[in-house]
Amino acid sequence: MSYQVSHFIHGQLIPVTGKTLEIYNPATGEVSGQVALADQSIIDNAVAAAKTAFTAWSGTTPLRRARVLFNFKMLLEKHIDELAQLVTKEHGKTLSDARGSVQRGIDVVEFVCGVPNLLKGSYSEDVATEMDSYSVRQPLGVCVGITPFNFPAMIPLWMFPMAIACGNTFVLKPSEKDPSCSIRLAQLLKEAGAPDGVLNVVQGDKAAVDMLLKHHDVKAVSFVGSTPVAEYVYNTAISHGKRVQAFGGAKNHCVVMPDADLEQAADAIVGAAYGSAGERCMAISVAVTIGDKVADELIKRIKPRVDKLVVGSGKDKTTEMGPLVTKAHQEKVKSYIDLGVKEGAELVIDGRDFKAKGFEKGFFIGASLFDKVKPEMRIYKEEIFGPVLSIVRVPDFNSALKLINEHEFGNGTAIFTGDGNAARTFANKVQVGMVGVNIPIPVPVAYHSFGGWKRSMFGDIHMHGMEGVQFYTKLKTITQKWLKDSKGTEFSMPTHH
Ligand code: NAD
Repeated sequence: MSYQVSHFIHGQLIPVTGKTLEIYNPATGEVSGQVALADQSIIDNAVAAAKTAFTAWSGTTPLRRARVLFNFKMLLEKHIDELAQLVTKEHGKTLSDARGSVQRGIDVVEFVCGVPNLLKGSYSEDVATEMDSYSVRQPLGVCVGITPFNFPAMIPLWMFPMAIACGNTFVLKPSEKDPSCSIRLAQLLKEAGAPDGVLNVVQGDKAAVDMLLKHHDVKAVSFVGSTPVAEYVYNTAISHGKRVQAFGGAKNHCVVMPDADLEQAADAIVGAAYGSAGERCMAISVAVTIGDKVADELIKRIKPRVDKLVVGSGKDKTTEMGPLVTKAHQEKVKSYIDLGVKEGAELVIDGRDFKAKGFEKGFFIGASLFDKVKPEMRIYKEEIFGPVLSIVRVPDFNSALKLINEHEFGNGTAIFTGDGNAARTFANKVQVGMVGVNIPIPVPVAYHSFGGWKRSMFGDIHMHGMEGVQFYTKLKTITQKWLKDSKGTEFSMPTHH
């Protein structure tokens, strides 16, 4: 049955009016609903609701805010299967993968339940005679989150729970491709006891984003999406005086050393390259093999695993890889495979003609593997964001490190080895934000922080963990003295002499 997804402002769903976009079921290829597109008045209303709510919410004690978040965590746990189903329905990934991603979002909520402790300031007694100094972290005001299609629950949960725990209020603009989850999250937060206006959701595309980036009352913007949009969001929001963190695309390499356990490495690489149909910013899209023998042996192990890969509807419990999110994305990924062939890479496994039985109109593509990919090829340089793995053969460890360090992206990377010294040198020298040692997808846990380097991130402060607290607060330092006797007027810089 067709459904409509609208905005959630000041605790209420807003009836759909004006322009809409179609939402698809990626497994069947059918239109399943419509999503509203916010106009200026919707954006103004959402920001105004958040601005009004800020006064009382920022004055609510951190302990009371934490209690709301604790209720929210319990409600998320209760509704985890329902949220996972919403993810699968509009994104296409498998239910178990969707459930795992919601859980990773809940982990952040759990972390921010400790916000009274996270916000504790510092105090220095006697910074001068009878003078003390202390520092506190205070909220910013209305914060905005703009999120991508590939994690419709987890990435919003990286942002707004942390922001509101710190005393801010929030306007979320989710991806127009899978907008339903964000509304359910907002309803559950309301049920948990958050006052109206603390979290608002506006639906839309570029036009809605532009209105938010330029809005006078927005103080900070968190963005996750592709690199060209991240760079645009960063520059636009900065020039309008906002604090910004904008996370972009990726090309994540894993290095396979000659001493690696190749069975384990092949398992890890197949899961990390083809899980979620490669639509993860931490997916492995390049395997860098040290020496030809490693490449040949690795391919020998990847091929049978790919042959056995169950591709189909994400709702089917046996499915291991679902469809891509839209027809346009399916065509884009296929065109990259065409390009790779033209560029001279060796297509070892070709998933272009794959059809899922019973889902012939779905946006599927089979797992694909290129060997002998060269650094100058576009299939190496650009993010494909689909189930396409490239093997780049290099002669030694230093060539692998140089290759990774010269790539424009620096989100995640991994090394498979039994050699502690190689692993340590890799972790120490690689120019990438998140590094795995014998771990293919090293997404930091909620109490550490997530963020890439180079053109995978614009801004300075990573997401969740203590960096999240830093991003969503500003530091104030108070120096105080309770005067008994005035020492008269002083004109020089105060010192200890
Ligand atoms: P996208 O950049 O197309 O869209 C992201 C958000 O920006 C959406 O809400 C969209 O409505 C909005 N948007 C799109 N075009 C815009 C424009 N021209 N101006 C202003 N706003 C615009 O990204 P996507 O396709 O939804 O997501 C996939 C991308 O996200 C991949 O590149 C992936 O690597 C990246 N990603 C990065 C991370 C990370 O943490 N670095 C995590 C997840 C996804």
